[in-house]
Amino acid sequence: MSRREEVIVLGAGVVGMATALTLADRGHRVTVVDSARGPGLGTSFANGAQLSFAYTDALAGPGVLGQLPRVLLGLDPALRFRLHLDPDFLRWSIAFLRNCSAGAFRRNTLAGLILAAESRHALDALTERHRLDYGHGVPGKIHIYRTAASFAAAEATVALKREAGVAQTLLDPDAAVALEPMLAPVRGEIAGALHTPDEAVGDPHRFCVSAHEALLRTGGSSMFELPVDRIEANGRQPAIVTGCGSRVPADRIILAAGPGAPRLARTIGVRLPVQPMKGYSITAPAGVAAPAASITDVANRVVFARLGNRMRIAGLAELGRRDTRVEPKRLRALVDSARAALPQAADYDDIESSWAGLRPATPDSLPVIRPIAPGVIANTGHGGLGWTWAAGSAERVAKIIEGTA
Ligand SMILES: Cc1cc2nc3c(=O)[nH]c(=O)nc-3n(C[C@H](O)[C@H](O)[C@H](O)COP(=O)(O)OP(=O)(O)OC[C@H]3O[C@@H](n4cnc5c(N)ncnc54)[C@H](O)[C@@H]3O)c2cc1C
Repeated sequence: MSRREEVIVLGAGVVGMATALTLADRGHRVTVVDSARGPGLGTSFANGAQLSFAYTDALAGPGVLGQLPRVLLGLDPALRFRLHLDPDFLRWSIAFLRNCSAGAFRRNTLAGLILAAESRHALDALTERHRLDYGHGVPGKIHIYRTAASFAAAEATVALKREAGVAQTLLDPDAAVALEPMLAPVRGEIAGALHTPDEAVGDPHRFCVSAHEALLRTGGSSMFELPVDRIEANGRQPAIVTGCGSRVPADRIILAAGPGAPRLARTIGVRLPVQPMKGYSITAPAGVAAPAASITDVANRVVFARLGNRMRIAGLAELGRRDTRVEPKRLRALVDSARAALPQAADYDDIESSWAGLRPATPDSLPVIRPIAPGVIANTGHGGLGWTWAAGSAERVAKIIEGTA
């Protein structure tokens, strides 16, 4: 190991907690700082719960351009775009469009797959080392396609991923129902399906809580309800400065503040290409036809994950929305999509909780994991895959500190 360092991890979401525990395991003295009252209360609280190690498809791709008119006119129930005239938002939007070429999609998706493979390995090791308890399971995932055209398009991505060693199987509707009998009620509407057997699930909030407990057991510490106003990195030892003006120095600061990271990075003169992309989830009792496998309904753009006797259902992507208010109209859009996709998967009339969060999205759908100032490393911008990529990103940060990245 390199020198034992005093490390502040700024942000206690899945990314920050995985990073904190990984660094503590490497012998560093780690303190997690968060403005919330506990771990995992930001975007990591009630996300889709899917560890999508094989589904790292970049959001920007050739298909997006065709959808753009509908999205801009507000006609797409799942995707929304609200224009802002601030330069960072405009720069992000232009960079996103530049990433819509077939070449960029392929490059970004494969880079995401590599990080996902690292992450699967790192998460398994972290879970085993600390006996982390977050409902981890490997039920596999089935994508269902409702048109022949969308199923044909999926075949191309399967071929791309096969090159990277990802095992997936294309299924006709009967084979899909044989594999997941709970798809029987929608059998007639399926054009084809894609099965990825080793996709996993886990509750991200429980992971953060369990990782925090393990961090404390390992000798690390945490400070909650401590909003950070700015970072200082002007050649001396870097420090965070809290809302009430106290300066806390460290050898290293890891900026893992999710959607809050760009504002903090600006305090040291760094522009991170991260914009919030709002999404929603509901958690409801499992219904009479609740699938055991995770399901992604491509047409309705909604994902289902079974967490014990509950279903976590997530969807919607709204670029340009910066608040986490649960808007009844948008929530209804999610529930309608879920009902249309799998009418009996959950008890939609008895929703236990509804939630909205901000994905910290980058134009190329890849996180920013790199030094951004002396002693400061960014680990943010994980978009819609932060839970999947958290443990692998943590390993990358450890390697940057050790000089072996
Ligand atoms: C609807 C939805 C569904 C999703 N589904 C999935 C999925 O199925 N699988 C998957 O892999 N990913 C999914 N994601 C994405 C995933 O949730 C995010 O990528 C991930 O949670 C980001 O984690 P994070 O730790 O970077 O950010 P966060 O969880 O937001 O953590 C950042 C922390 O930093 C703190 N913070 C910010 N600013 C400050 C400050 N100034 N001072 C102190 N503390 C601060 C916040 O309080 C917060 O706790 C989904 C996201 C959404 C919205």
